[in-house]
Amino acid sequence: MRYSKLFGKTVREPQKDMSQVSHKLLYQAGFIRESTAGRYYLLPLGQRVFDKIVKIVEEEMDKAGGQKMSAPILHPLELWEETNRDKSGGYELMTVKDRRGASFALGGTAEEMFVDVVRRFRLTYKELPFNVYQMGYKFRDELRARGGLMRVREFIMKDAYSFHTTDEDFKKEYENMRETYSKIFTRIGLKFDIVPADNGYFGGDYCHEFDVESEVGESKYFVSEDGNYIAHEDIAKFKLTDVNPNEELKDMEIVEQPEWVRTMEDNIKNYNLPAERFLKNVVYKNRVDGKLYIVVIRGDLQVNKNKLEHALDLVGLLDDATDEDILSMGSKPVWVHSWGFENVNIVFVADESLKTVKNMIGGQKEASTDTINVNYGRDFTHDIEADVAMAQSGFLAPDGKSKLVLKKGIEVGNIFQLGQHYSKKMRDAVFVDNDGKSKEFYMGCYGIGLGRTMATVVEVSHDDKGIIWPEAIAPYKVYLVGLNLELDEVRERAEQVYKELTEQGIEVLYDDRLGVNPGEKFADADLVGVPYRLVVSKKTGDMVELKKRAEDETEMMNKSSLIGKLTIPQDGKYHQ
Ligand code: ATP
Ligand code: MG
Repeated sequence: MRYSKLFGKTVREPQKDMSQVSHKLLYQAGFIRESTAGRYYLLPLGQRVFDKIVKIVEEEMDKAGGQKMSAPILHPLELWEETNRDKSGGYELMTVKDRRGASFALGGTAEEMFVDVVRRFRLTYKELPFNVYQMGYKFRDELRARGGLMRVREFIMKDAYSFHTTDEDFKKEYENMRETYSKIFTRIGLKFDIVPADNGYFGGDYCHEFDVESEVGESKYFVSEDGNYIAHEDIAKFKLTDVNPNEELKDMEIVEQPEWVRTMEDNIKNYNLPAERFLKNVVYKNRVDGKLYIVVIRGDLQVNKNKLEHALDLVGLLDDATDEDILSMGSKPVWVHSWGFENVNIVFVADESLKTVKNMIGGQKEASTDTINVNYGRDFTHDIEADVAMAQSGFLAPDGKSKLVLKKGIEVGNIFQLGQHYSKKMRDAVFVDNDGKSKEFYMGCYGIGLGRTMATVVEVSHDDKGIIWPEAIAPYKVYLVGLNLELDEVRERAEQVYKELTEQGIEVLYDDRLGVNPGEKFADADLVGVPYRLVVSKKTGDMVELKKRAEDETEMMNKSSLIGKLTIPQDGKYHQ
């Protein structure tokens, strides 16, 4: 490709509102342009990278037994009504009508569509299992589209759906997909963590995010220092340690308290004791039946709503209580009690941490009084005891052997157990088993964000001059800088190098521009981030100068050794 003809040129400065490195660099280097917020054009350079990512994903999915197909972009809304996701999909779901008044969802994911096509075949157990995937457009009316390709409103996802006769069979495919994803991201050149995450209703061990560690990542997860434990913050567990095991138990007392003491910070100041010595009460409300839940927890801990919902079997149903809710139970927002409300519509939950402190403070706080020396198990107990606390950096891993460290990562893909969730909700989503009975499918789904993966590579692989593409997905292998091209002899040599390399099947972006100074050409080569930079100039004579993008040294060589060097796969390990 001749740079002079390339559509989508480099730009020296990013735009003002661009805060993420990947957004800036993909814009400046001429890979993407925004249409409207969260919707992007992939320019020719961007498309080449994208296509290479797609190719790697397809090759590995096919090797793993996946079968590529395509589903329509408009999903009949009735399908989403069958699973009730037309309502629960929230604001992210977009819908359109056609001229006949038929309603469609612009799908943000495609479980219903794949169940719908599969159920039409009335399969028997002999035809299962299988895994079908697509490179499909997804529409999500995200509240916060973030800069560049990281969180967009319209994108292509590799989404795969597997169908099985049993849960055990699904689990085999899950492992197969876990390995396949590892191969995909390794080939792309990303280092990643496989993070057990929350699986909504399904629970258990069958949901993993593939996260690439990065400050701009929105996924938070904990890793133990010894590397033996890893979990998404939504589900992370930790080992509690006793706060004051050697203290004698004292009698519970009600004491006077200055009225300015309201918040946890006030308490800490007033008693000159750390937050872990206090009781904290946090109130939630069931969105459906209005029931209130008071969670009593150690003062230094935060409630993990996700763990709480699982403990109560109320996944997705709890909201933070409002001041109004709290007043309605005869309490005040700053003085919720840890026990004692005689109201059938209030349920108490005790976090396990209450068992680690002696002589706690609080629990029955009022405007001018407080309670001290409160001991869980002696002064109050609750029927529901559970681990509902957020893990924190520095806490011990569940095995108690090393400390937890908080990491931030970009979720580039995930694998997910669906069980019979969709097949039970959708009619006729069954196969005929070997006993002649119709049974619902067991399913799994597996997604990769292709554009997000591209942005993630830039996020973790760049320097202050520009992008550093891993060879496997670089838009071109070589950036050929032609200098002094106004001299016939030099131009002919540069043209010859371009022609010969191209004939060898090496992808070359040839900077053939006249009247652009060397500094600018070098800056563009660095910005675009192609793995090898070649220079042909008056100075190089019959030789060419070679430099790797990620290194500083240059090397002079003749054409034949150059071709030899460029045709040896550098990432040979992953070449077939
Ligand atoms: P997130 O938590 O980031 O919103 P998600 O859990 O909604 O992601 P999935 O529905 O599981 O994501 O989609 C599978 C993959 O699609 C994700 O792992 C991610 O790589 C990609 N993806 C999801 N939403 C977006 C988006 N708005 N823009 C770009 N890629 C996305
Ligand atoms: Mg999302």
